[in-house]
Amino acid sequence: MPISFDKPFTQQEPISEEAITKAVEVMRTGKLHRYNTAPGETSEAEMLEKEFADSLGVKFCLACASGGYAIHIALKACGLQRGDTVMTNAFTLAPVPGAIDNAGGKVALVEIDQNYCVDLNHLEATMKLTSSKFFLISHMRGHLADMDAVVKLCKQYNVTLIEDCAHTMGAFWNGKASGSFGKAACFSTQTYKHINSGEGGFLTTNNKEVMARAIMHSGSYMLFERHGTAPDKEVFKDIKLDTPNYSGRMDNLRASILRVQLQTLSENCKRWNRLYQAAEKGLRKINSITLSERPRQETYVGSSIQFRADNLNDVSGFIDRCAKRGVELKWFGNKEPLGFTSRYDSWRYLGEAPTLPNTLKILNRTFDMRLPLTFNEKDMGTITAIINEELSHDTARVSANH
Ligand SMILES: *Cc1c(COP(=O)(O)O)cnc(C)c1O
Repeated sequence: MPISFDKPFTQQEPISEEAITKAVEVMRTGKLHRYNTAPGETSEAEMLEKEFADSLGVKFCLACASGGYAIHIALKACGLQRGDTVMTNAFTLAPVPGAIDNAGGKVALVEIDQNYCVDLNHLEATMKLTSSKFFLISHMRGHLADMDAVVKLCKQYNVTLIEDCAHTMGAFWNGKASGSFGKAACFSTQTYKHINSGEGGFLTTNNKEVMARAIMHSGSYMLFERHGTAPDKEVFKDIKLDTPNYSGRMDNLRASILRVQLQTLSENCKRWNRLYQAAEKGLRKINSITLSERPRQETYVGSSIQFRADNLNDVSGFIDRCAKRGVELKWFGNKEPLGFTSRYDSWRYLGEAPTLPNTLKILNRTFDMRLPLTFNEKDMGTITAIINEELSHDTARVSANH
């Protein structure tokens, strides 16, 4: 009997009893809306904003409805006008181009490199070609590009940098937190990210006008002073009249459970990295697999792992065989968008997809695996053994045909 694996790849840890208690306390008050506070009272959403901003080392944080929503209003708050072009790396999740579209922007897709990061040469070429003034860098699956080089390039071409940190909450580049490199950064607290409120997001910035506009966009009903990190009242003077309400607030229930989780974020990041390193160790033993190089400046959070099997012949056969043995792999090379994965050329609403040969080539043989904290290091041995066996079946089958 071949070994199989029986834990689900989509199983989070439960919400802690402490967080459940907090959530119940909020529900007992009935005051779930963030602005439903008595004079002198501070809401859970406000406190969360203050605590997240402090943990990141930035001035301002806005808690909002989702990560995709945070990107949408970050673009608007940073001055995107209808029809402006926004560059973003082609390997990302569907809410990223969706948020650009929602903000009225046009998407210019940029190639990725072997390490799943934006290709800096193609980025510069795209800056020249499109004269785009916005770069939304998506740190997809937690891979940080050379952020010093990215910042330098953006300065040189007068491009506004916005970070999508959906997979880098808790990560650093050269000791500097991911999310502190651009004019604004966006985080997600959706179930599959590093803290879990089902749905939710943060927008962070050091720029007071950007935060004032973001607060107005999120739907503050002129209660903009009731924010954990609100800029001074005068900053809102014109902004409050010029900025539409795009209603997308976070509620106190979500905020209450996130506040508790924030306290264990860095410990959980270490737990993810132990899983990641165990998975990496197993995968490194497989000759036909290529792993990305993680630069020494990068302090990553290994909540998922990617590997490439460049010589694999039968991709869907391999995925199916792994799935039959309980190992759930995602494939971003699929033409058909499936589950949480979609390749850039399936976003047909963007217009004709550009040809990005390097990105296609890389994604075509890249497999992606979630590493939920409900797994342990021993599980990584089982999983990588199954991957190894199923990869060798591919080679055997094909050579038998010759
Ligand atoms: C999840 C995710 C988002 C958006 O988050 P939601 O909260 O689901 O809207 C953005 N970018 C990436 C790379 C993501 O994985």
